[in-house]
Order: sequence, then structure tokens, then C-alpha cells
Amino acid sequence: MKKHSGQDRSLTSRWRPATQAVRGGTWRSEHGETSEALYLTSGYTYDTAEDVAARFAGEQAGMQYSRFQNPTVQMLEERIALMEGAEACKAQATGMAAMTSALLCMLSSGDHVVAGRAAFGSCRWILDNVLNRFGITHSIVDARENEQWRDAIQPNTKVFFFETPANPTLDIVDLEYVCGLARENGITTIVDNAFATPILQRPLDFGADVVAYSATKLMDGQGRVLAGAVCGTDEWINGKLSPFQRNTGPIISPFNAWVVLKGLETLELRAMRQSENALKVGKFMATRVERMLHPGLPSHPQHNLVRKQMTAAGPIFSFILEDRAQAMAMLNAMQLCDISNNIGDSRTLLCHPASTTHNNMGPQKRAEAGVEEGMIRINVGLEDPDDIIEDLDQALTAVGL
Ligand SMILES: *Cc1c(COP(=O)(O)O)cnc(C)c1O
Repeated sequence: MKKHSGQDRSLTSRWRPATQAVRGGTWRSEHGETSEALYLTSGYTYDTAEDVAARFAGEQAGMQYSRFQNPTVQMLEERIALMEGAEACKAQATGMAAMTSALLCMLSSGDHVVAGRAAFGSCRWILDNVLNRFGITHSIVDARENEQWRDAIQPNTKVFFFETPANPTLDIVDLEYVCGLARENGITTIVDNAFATPILQRPLDFGADVVAYSATKLMDGQGRVLAGAVCGTDEWINGKLSPFQRNTGPIISPFNAWVVLKGLETLELRAMRQSENALKVGKFMATRVERMLHPGLPSHPQHNLVRKQMTAAGPIFSFILEDRAQAMAMLNAMQLCDISNNIGDSRTLLCHPASTTHNNMGPQKRAEAGVEEGMIRINVGLEDPDDIIEDLDQALTAVGL
């Protein structure tokens, strides 16, 4: 297999993100294919017994087994690393495999984690049900409040873990402050950047240490595959995370990696257009619904912070109706947009977090996380925004708003 200029870091690292999204990490076979090849193989063969021995001894570059390396997966990893401005990246089977691997490779028994209150339900579940079994404790803070991060630091605090914007309350974390605070105190920051992707926000530019992804969301963006990725320093990714993955196996299928690789080619177009559509739909919703959580609108209390650290506000916002019954009735009245708990998709999707993604938290933790009973989260897609608005309009009318 022939190395393409896409593998020469001294060249590709100079390319801008939109170029990297299309060309970064490309690796062409002897056939010179235009589109990246899908290497759907679990293993590899060797010319000689000495070759395989040299590879297993780490003396010869090349593939050994697809739990260790796969050319399609490596193209995806290289492309994401380039887009993120990271030294290295490893891909995983799902976003949750990415979060779990990142946390387990950073923490040991006796350590303490500070995490943002609003978080993807399963991220919170790992803290409560996995890490605590190994003597890793945590504190939950209102991630919007800088001083809460400072006050939560204990002598054994090892990791700050948060999303921004957060699901589903669209809380924004002040990246520069919180990452700076972590650095001063020898704490590692792990940022779940699923809502933004490197197109809308690059946490490493603000001092984050590790960026973790559900690539299922905007990166695939067309509702097809589950995927995850973790970005960080070469030393940590290749020294810690890579051996962990080789031996525990949360590996992405080459097919899924290939689908995400193709998705990245249009990521910038989709992320920017969906952000634009979400702004237009949000402006309409603000005329009909009193309480909105839309990071792109000046009514969002942290709108200035959004403007400082994001290039656009993304496709997702939430609004709050009177109660669960009204929220459910509105979802049932939608005609074009779908009821679905996925996000980042090119289709407009609506979901009631309290009864779905955040159901297993129970009412008390939901209240603490700001997930209200009347809250609806919307992912605005690539449809004509006027059609989305007309659909929302008739559904709001149907529930008496
Ligand atoms: C979806 C999501 C995850 C989990 O990703 P999967 O690919 O579904 O495993 C983690 N964090 C955030 C913010 C998400 O939206």
C-alpha cells in the first residue's frame, strides 16, 4: 500500500479544517482509488515468518490484527486528529466506549472526578455505577458557574469531565477558565464535544487535555452508524489508551469507520447549515414559547461565551412547555419532524428527555441536572427551515399555544 501525501503530517497539519475534513489522513492503495478504501478484514498476512516476528516485536511498521490496527480506521483517526488539532486520536465502537475508555485510562482507585451537572445520561451512569465500584468518587457541579469548579477541587481530584454545550439544557462551560483552572491544579480535563464537533468548537485551543466524541452524532450526521473517538497527546493516546483498547476491545468496525470518514467530508457544510436553520427555527419558537434554551440566541444567558468559543451554535436547542402532558401532546402532533432521541442527524428530530434519555436518572437527579418535565429537545436538520417552522407552528396550535 502506498502512502499518500495525506499521511505526511508536516504537510497536512498546515491545511485548514475544511481541507482536512476532505483529504486529511487519506491513504491510497496501489489502485489509486479516489475515495478511501474500505478494508473489511479482521487479519493480515505476511511475506515471511521473520516479517511477522518483526511486527510483533515493534521493529517493522504494518498491520497485525484489526483489534490493533486497520487502515480504514487509521484514516478516520488521522482525519479527526487533524481536524481537532490533536497530536493523536483513537476511534471506538460508540461514543460511550470512547467516554469509558478515556475515563478508565485517566483514573485510578482513590481518585476524584468533578463533573458537570448536565450530562448525557450514560456518562452520569458511569460515574454512579462503574467508577464508584473501584473507589473513584465524584462531585457534581453546575458547570455554568466557574467558582463551583474551583470549590469542588479536592487534594485527590484528577479529572474534570464535562460537555459543552450540554445535553439537554445547553449549559455552556467557560472552556478557557475551567481548563486553565485544571492546569493550575494538575487536573486533566476531558471534554465531551459531541454537540459541537471540531467544526464548531476546538476545546484543545482553549487548554483542554482530552476531547472525546460520540461520532454517531454530527460526524456521521445521517443516522447510520454508532462510533466514537478520543483525541489527546501522542504520549497518552499511544502510551495508555491504545494498549487499553488492544487488550479490552472497544474497537470500531472498519465499515462504521468508513461511513464516518465519508460523513466528515460534508461535516462543515452540515454543521454550518444546520446551525443556521436552528437559528431561524429558534427565532420562530421564541415568538410562541416563553422559555427557551438556545445557545445561538441573545436570550441565552451565556450567549457571549458561545460567541467567544464557538464558530456557530449548532443544530440543537431546547424549549420548555407547561408540563409532561403538554410536551407529549406536542410531539404527537408533529407531522414532518420525527420523534427520536438521536441528535446531529440531517433530519429534524424531537425528544422529551425526562421520559427518554434522562429517564433512568430518576426525578431528583433530573431536577438537579435541570431536566424539566415540560422540556423538549430539538435537533434541527437540513430540511427547508420554513417547512420545519410550519410543522412546529401547527403542533403548537394543536396543544393550545
Ligand atoms: C450520544 C452521546 C453520547 C453517547 O454516544 P453513543 O455513540 O450513543 O454511544 C455521549 N455524549 C453525548 C453528549 C452524546 O450526545
